[in-house]
Parts: sequence; C-alpha cells; structure tokens
Amino acid sequence: MTGNFERIAAQALGEGRTYLMEHESKRILMDAGLETTGAHLASSADDAVRVANQLGYPVVLKVLSKDVVHKSDAGGVRLNLQDADAVRSAYHEIESIFRERGMIGVSVQRMASPGIEVIVGVTRDPTFGPVIMFGLGGIFVEILRDVSFRSIPISEMDAESMIREIRGYPLLRGYRGISGDIDAIKSMLLRISDLVEKHSIIKEMDLNPVFVYPRGYTIADARIILDISSPASAADTAPSPGAAGLRGLFYPQSIAVIGASNTKGKLGWNVFYNLLSHGYKGRLYPVNPNASDVQGVRAYPSIKDVPEAVDVAIVLVPASLTPQVVQDCCAAGVKYVVVESAGFAELGDEGKRIERELLSIVRRHGCRLLGPNCSGIINTNCGVVESIGVVDELNRGNVGLIAQAGVYAAGYLWGLRKVLDFGIIATIGNKLDLNETDMLEAIGMDENIDVVCMYLEDVKGGRRFIDVAREVSRRKPVVVLKTGRTEAGKRAVSSHTASLAGNDEIYSSVFRQAGLIRARDNDHMFALARAFSKQPLPANDGVFVISYAGSLGVAAADAISMNGMRLAELSPELKDELRRVLPKYVSGMNPVDFTFDQTPDQVRRTIEIAVKSEDVGSFIVVMQTEILGAYIDTLRSIDYMGRPILAVVASKEFVIDDTIEMERAGIPVYSTPEQAAEVLGAMWMYRKERGWQEQMRH
Ligand code: ADP
Ligand code: MG
Repeated sequence: MTGNFERIAAQALGEGRTYLMEHESKRILMDAGLETTGAHLASSADDAVRVANQLGYPVVLKVLSKDVVHKSDAGGVRLNLQDADAVRSAYHEIESIFRERGMIGVSVQRMASPGIEVIVGVTRDPTFGPVIMFGLGGIFVEILRDVSFRSIPISEMDAESMIREIRGYPLLRGYRGISGDIDAIKSMLLRISDLVEKHSIIKEMDLNPVFVYPRGYTIADARIILDISSPASAADTAPSPGAAGLRGLFYPQSIAVIGASNTKGKLGWNVFYNLLSHGYKGRLYPVNPNASDVQGVRAYPSIKDVPEAVDVAIVLVPASLTPQVVQDCCAAGVKYVVVESAGFAELGDEGKRIERELLSIVRRHGCRLLGPNCSGIINTNCGVVESIGVVDELNRGNVGLIAQAGVYAAGYLWGLRKVLDFGIIATIGNKLDLNETDMLEAIGMDENIDVVCMYLEDVKGGRRFIDVAREVSRRKPVVVLKTGRTEAGKRAVSSHTASLAGNDEIYSSVFRQAGLIRARDNDHMFALARAFSKQPLPANDGVFVISYAGSLGVAAADAISMNGMRLAELSPELKDELRRVLPKYVSGMNPVDFTFDQTPDQVRRTIEIAVKSEDVGSFIVVMQTEILGAYIDTLRSIDYMGRPILAVVASKEFVIDDTIEMERAGIPVYSTPEQAAEVLGAMWMYRKERGWQEQMRH
C-alpha cells in the first residue's frame, strides 16, 4: 500500500517535479481508502476508448501533463462523454491542444452525478505546520471564502466542528430536499489528516471538487504538491522539557537579583524594591559589585559569591554582558534565569547573536531561561513580584496572565488590581527558551489559578501549543487576545519583539480547535476574566433578567438570544409566588421590569424565588447608577445556589467607588446589557463545549 506512495513520489521527484498529476494523486487517495471518480491513464485514443468501454458511460477525459496544473482553464477537460465516438474525438481535441505541452495522455474516469460541491485542502502554516481546510466549493469558496481550518492531526470532534463552522453548513444539513452526508465528510477529513500525518512530504493538497451526496461522496479532482525542503528542524520537534519542572520558577525558595541597585529610578532598584515590598518569604540576594548592601540587604559582588545555589536569578545587566552573567549563573547552579534586560533580537543582528549564545549556554547546563526583554514573574501566592515597574500592593488571586509584553506586569495592573485579583502573571518577552506554551502548561496545572488570560503576538510552540491549550481548557477557561491581526499590526509586531505574526484565519481556527476563548481587545479579555474568576458557570442557557428600565430589559433579552442563550421560563407555581411579591404595575415575569422604583430588597426577593427554578441558569441584574452602592450588601448576601450573577450599571465609570466595591463583593459589573450577555454567552459556550468534549471522550 505505502509502496505506491513511495514509488509515485520518487518518480515525480526524479523527474524534477513536486506536482503530482491527477492519476497519481488519486492513486494515493484511493490507497488511503478515499472515494474518487478514478483516473486511468490512457495514452492513445484507442486506449481511452478501451478504458471507457470497461468503465461504462458516461465518462470524463482530462489532460494529463506535468506542465498543466489547472486543466479546465487550459481547455483540457471533456465532461459527460456518452459513447466511444465521443471519447475518440475528445481525445483528439485534447491532443491537438496539449501535444506540445508535456502531455503524457489523458485520464479516463467515471462521470460523477451532481451533488453538493465541496472543497478539501491541505496547506502548511509557518507556525502550526500542516493544516486541513474544508468548505463549500464553486462560487462559495471563490467569492465568499466560506472555509474552515484545523491543524493536522484532527480529532473526530475537530472534523465535526470544522464542518459545522462554515456558513454553508445548513445546506449540508439539508435544504429543500438537498443534503450532504456529514458522517462521510467527517471520515474523509479524518483519512486525509491521517495520510498527511503519515507522509510529511505532502506539502499541499487540493481536492476540488468533491461531490457530496445524501449518502457518501466522491472526489472528482485531486492534486498533491510535495515538499522538497528539509523536514522540520530538530528544534521544532525536540520534546520539550515539560512544565512540571517549572514549579521553582513560580514558587522560588531563593532569588538573586543581578544588577540590583540603590539608585531610585533604575530598573535594578525597582525590581529589588518590588521583591522586598510584597511579603516574599524566601531568601533574597542582591548582586552588585559596587555596593555592600542594596536597600538594606547584604549584597554580593558576583552570583558566584552567593552562599547557595538559588532557584531564580534575575538578570538586569546590559545585553552585551548577559552571556557572561548567565554563564556564571549556570556555573553557580541557578535553576532559572530571568533576563529582564532589553536590547536583543528586537535590535538586530548583534542582539540575535547574543540570544543564540545565551540559548546555547543554558541548554548546555540544563538551566531554563525566561526572556530576554521581559518583566519576570508575579506570583501573589508567595509574594514574588519581579516587575521592572514598581507595583503597588496586590491581593492574592485566581487569575493567571501570560503576556509577551511587560506592560501587563505593571502598567495595566495599576488599575486592574482594584477589580481583578491575579495569582500569576508571567511575561515571556522574546521567549528565547521558555515560551507561551510552557507557561500555559505550568499555569494550567497551578492549583491556585482558575482562569488563564493570554496576550500573544505570535505562537512559537506550534502544534504543542494546541495540544497543551486543549488540555488546559478542559480544566479551566483560557481567554486569549492575539494582536497583529492586520498587515499594519504585523509590522508593528516585528519591530516590537522580533516575531512574525501568523495568518489570522489559521490562528482563529487553531484557537477554536484548542477550546480557547478569543477576546477582541484588552477590555473584552478582562471583562471575561472578571466573570470567569468571580462567578460559577451558568447551569443552563436560561437567563433571568431583572431591570429598572424596560428598554434595558429588552436590550438584554435581544443580546441573550444573540449570544446563544434564551430567557428562562418560570413554572406556573413560581410565577404565582413571584406575582405575590411584585408591585401591581409589574407585568412581565422575565425580564422583570420594576421601573425606577426598583429597590435592593425587591431584587433580593425576586432572585430568591427565581433561583428555585430549574430553568434559571444565570442572572443579569440591571441597577440604577445613582443608588448602586445600596445594592452591594444585599446582592452579596443572596444565595444564588451555584448560579452566576452579572450586574449591569449604565455609566459605571462615573460611580467608580461603588463599581469597585461591587466587584470586590464578587459581582462583575458591565456598562451595558449587551456586554453582560456577551460575557455570559462565552461562559455558557465554555461549559457546553466542555460537556460535549466529555461526552465525545466516553
Ligand atoms: P481543474 O480543477 O484542473 O481545472 P477538474 O478536474 O476539477 O479540473 O475539472 C473541472 C470541472 O469539471 C470540475 O470543477 C467539475 O465541475 C467537473 N468535473 C471534473 N471531473 C468530473 C467528474 N469525474 N465527474 C463530473 N464532473 C467532473
Ligand atoms: Mg479541480
């Protein structure tokens, strides 16, 4: 079986071509168990007639040539040939056009009956490697680009979701008597994924068109392009040391700061000050050859003079000095080096050379390196704050954040810490050694973290990123903000951290494949994080809305249905009970509209009744801005019986103290019903998908 593949590939490469002709491509597909219309090579008119007679009519003739890739554009396809004469004259026509153009004959094949035309393809993404594409064929792919992608290998669930994801899915499901065999498409996608996984020499593949029927499918045209470049480099495929060993990076017993300073305003002052001022209980060693102590702590001239092998050494010396310092760290038995100095790959060739040197030093010693050009780690669970910017008091928290950029470890925190409690913030900078995938794996395992946020400019872990992200998303929600979406954004990225952003469509698909929740912007990411970290997941898709303004209740109802949920329905008994506590003028039972007379106590009584309903999976409560403060104690004291509650307060930014206090009470506050419904929708989707995955696994 594989014999054919090797033979066909060897022959093509021997002839100096990477393009496999239709009959060759289809042979490979058929060997892999895929259904095609066949393709028999015939090199004369007589030959073609003989094959056609054997196949039975009607048949199709197509030119076979090493030089013709788009056969019909060049006039090399003859469809629906009904008899021997038609075949004979079609052969002569094709021959007259292609005789001088590398024609080796024609392919004779069955004429497929009409069905839904789809396209299946394979291509290579520079970040994620081989990806498979699925979409509706014909004008749908050309004009609407209605296609979906997944990284190879795909699971059955991936196959299912990539089919459902295209806009034309309802057409496949069945419309006016036309329908497509979804299970057959799934098995086709899985077989192609298998084939490409087995044969890494396959670079691209085009199956276009594939006809899908109410039962089964057939591939009418196929071309495969081989890859002659060298296989994936060893660095890409080398097994990662894994994140289990990263505990000491996040929970160090001892930290040295090389370049710790007594001069206020210097980064070496900031970092050491941060470590001193957040209650870190481990041992601290400032290293500075020109000082006997730093900020009151005994200093050492070199890491080699520090009396123990520290867990973490933070490096703040100029880039050009880092190789020597890192070398000394390794010699002194340091387990993790955190290089916060800037001036590396982002500054051109010399920086890149230094980076290569650093990498080879730490690899040689089995030491791990974070950065360079990063802002270290924050772990509020053990008072570790390594930021280059001074960070004020932080609460312990359950939110993890992974970011390339240091602004998340200081700038954003300044305000965010008032409403969001972070557990771990890991900045990865140029991610020379440790990258986002390592951080995600480690933070995913951390028992103190319930939700992970990621800010990414690109992904270096490739396929491993998907596997790790998928595993972590099963346990806790992962919200990701990926920038560099537009061409302009991409350029900004490469000048910023010397990384190239990948293709956005592939990223979107990969995030979906990995079960990640994609945020639009920072606001959206932290809006999601506030809810995920403070509230339980919705019990079901039924939402109960309480509002003081009819218009906001209606807006909530609309937004709820736009986000894949619905208004919950109370039983007749609960409706009666509710009616007894509602003022006479309140008519609706969901949304409940109290008008401006709404009071905290009315809201409490309403929730206490609604919460008894099985159909109520979550609450949205819209409150008057001017009396927001009056609600805080009441809402805090209600037993929601495991259901989430999100608050909506128009113009919340102008009652910031009350908003902060409400957030501190564990209830996230949004400015509009639309924002609240969108967040709730993401929470429900996360819960639903996780349940779905569990089912598929059993
Ligand atoms: P190319 O893509 O190289 O131009 P194709 O083999 O896809 O050539 O043929 C062009 C079109 O002819 C297809 O899009 C399809 O509509 C039709 N066609 C090709 N092969 C068959 C077949 N075996 N049965 C029915 N229609 C076919
Ligand atoms: Mg084609």
